Amino acid sequence: MTHAQRLPAAIHAVALASRATLAVRHGQVPMDMQTKDDKSPVTVADYAAQATAVVTLQKMLAEPLCMLGEEDAAQLRENARLRASVLAAARLGLDDPSFTEAQLVAAVDAGAHAGADTSGDYWTLDPIDGTKGFLRGGQYAVCLAWIEKGEVALGVLGCPAMALDGDPAHVSPVGSYYAAVKDAGAWGWSAHDPFTAARRLRLPAWNGQSVRVAESVEAEHSAHGEQAQVMANLGVPVSSVRLDSQCKYAVVASGRADAYLRFPTNPTRKECIWDHATGVLLVDEAGGETSDARGAKLDFGHGKRLEKNHGIIACAKGLRGKLVI
Ligand code: AMP
Ligand code: MG
Repeated sequence: MTHAQRLPAAIHAVALASRATLAVRHGQVPMDMQTKDDKSPVTVADYAAQATAVVTLQKMLAEPLCMLGEEDAAQLRENARLRASVLAAARLGLDDPSFTEAQLVAAVDAGAHAGADTSGDYWTLDPIDGTKGFLRGGQYAVCLAWIEKGEVALGVLGCPAMALDGDPAHVSPVGSYYAAVKDAGAWGWSAHDPFTAARRLRLPAWNGQSVRVAESVEAEHSAHGEQAQVMANLGVPVSSVRLDSQCKYAVVASGRADAYLRFPTNPTRKECIWDHATGVLLVDEAGGETSDARGAKLDFGHGKRLEKNHGIIACAKGLRGKLVI
């Protein structure tokens, strides 16, 4: 299959999964939250979005699905109340009232392909990146990428609560979508009107006059103090916007911040590929630059995690060399 065949499937998968998340956020489905083994939260919307994206890809792709998704169905199997809410949200996402519990559990599990051949070609999905943002009514993202021989080849990002233009911290009733294809470009469009043309994202080089940085809300996720120091060293006025999720990459790619910084708080923790694959391609294809915090190329060829990398920098051209630590 070609990217031209995969791209519409990926756009549909992210759009329908985003719809499932909004059904939960808008209270059409009871909200339920569980805690995973690593203490991170997972909600009805995370599972519903994974199932919705997986089923949509399975329907639209002419090849078997190989997917490394963030969630698995273990908690869904055990908890009937959770399963019922997830089913209701997935039915709204898919617009298919006949979607069954058995199909739901199978879809979530199909998206958690433990045996995904990470040396080969596969999809990776974060059904809700920024679950903490989702829970606090802030920003979150639905992130899908196609990895080919260890390189991100295609990515689609849904930001259901962030407008295409304006202040990204403002929670918008109209979201935005972004897509990138390696060596072909990056685009963004509003969820408002399907007849609005997608906009080609072309990021200008850093102007050298001031710097706007996007960083995590959660202090545990990146070293805010160290990031502030690096920005201060630039000797220009600095402003910061704190947002959950890969929305930060979209904010850089659409020219609303000059850099996304994610310096590790814990030197042994390695980033998960589904937290970065889509966003990194988006910024690269918009004309920006990405690397780890030390300047090394981000290497998606080592399975579930960015084993060879230490933190993340995504920014406008001309700035990266001044930000490495
Ligand atoms: P963000 O919304 O950008 O702050 O990042 C959300 C992601 O942070 C989640 O998807 C988690 O996988 C990831 N995460 C959880 N704990 C940490 C940590 N200690 N350091 C870096 N990332 C983390
Ligand atoms: Mg995530």
